[in-house]
Amino acid sequence: MEVKSLEFRKLGKTRDSIPLVGMGTYGMGSDDDRAIEALRYGLDRGMSLIDTAEMYSSGHSEELVSRAVEDRRESVFVASKVSPSHFAYDDVLRSAQKSLKRLGLKQMDLYQLHWPNPNIPISETVRATEKLANDGLIRYIGVSNFSVKQVKEAQQSLSKHQIVSNQVEYNLLQRSIESDLIPYCQKEGMTVIAYSPLGQGKIPKGEGVEFDLLDKVAAKLRKSRNQVALNWLIHQDSVVVIPKAIRKEHLAENATASGWKLAKSDYELISKAFA
Ligand code: NAP
Repeated sequence: MEVKSLEFRKLGKTRDSIPLVGMGTYGMGSDDDRAIEALRYGLDRGMSLIDTAEMYSSGHSEELVSRAVEDRRESVFVASKVSPSHFAYDDVLRSAQKSLKRLGLKQMDLYQLHWPNPNIPISETVRATEKLANDGLIRYIGVSNFSVKQVKEAQQSLSKHQIVSNQVEYNLLQRSIESDLIPYCQKEGMTVIAYSPLGQGKIPKGEGVEFDLLDKVAAKLRKSRNQVALNWLIHQDSVVVIPKAIRKEHLAENATASGWKLAKSDYELISKAFA
């Protein structure tokens, strides 16, 4: 199948671009063949950003990603994460080596600090990621679930590299990052990678006046509710989304959630309905 290109967005201040809609892999560990087929199906449809973590299925998720990308590594942007329990300097280096081995890669495209660890100075952890970047084992450094203060601290601890992204929960039902994190990332040219963009399945199933409005806008545009919910997130120019889907009909739907843009009036109506 010919690989279709989705809409892309610049990653942080780098020269690289990533698709506005990628794929998450949390909870994909139980049926290997089905998970690999799902990821390859999504890759065929252009969702060429895959997000995983050493923590997911105790590393097995990374092994599944390895099998899904083995014949097309060059066209896939692979992002993984180091767990907070491995934030000590030497542990970060060890974790990265183990992730690379499971992923079957020489280099990860993005390596993210999964969650802040109050017991280890941020500076120690990011210095380790800087070494990984200097050694060519990772291309870019990102964080996840970091507040503005923590991102600033991480950035200040780097001498040569940039924090290119912050992966945080963002969906129509969880919008707390709009007050400070999104404006900060926009100002600093940092990408927001929105996780749980469908509220872990709550948005597809949601009921109430706000969902009626979402369905109405979707019907007018001949899109699905979930496509509109994803498109609403990527309306902001620093945001990309990584929905997780195992079902092909979900993957096909998500892959066509970009390449078009909600009108400002619809965007505002939805924003207000879900405020
Ligand atoms: P999500 O993507 O919001 O929701 C996943 C659920 O939505 C699955 O049950 C999936 O069903 C369903 N779904 C997907 N597309 C759909 C569609 N078009 N129509 C109807 N249902 C649809 O939640 P998530 O898995 O929590 O988040 C996505 C990814 O973000 C994760 O996989 C992970 O990579 C990342 N994440 C990161 C963190 C972090 O701390 N950094 C935390 C949570 C998640 P099927 O699977 O049955 O198709």
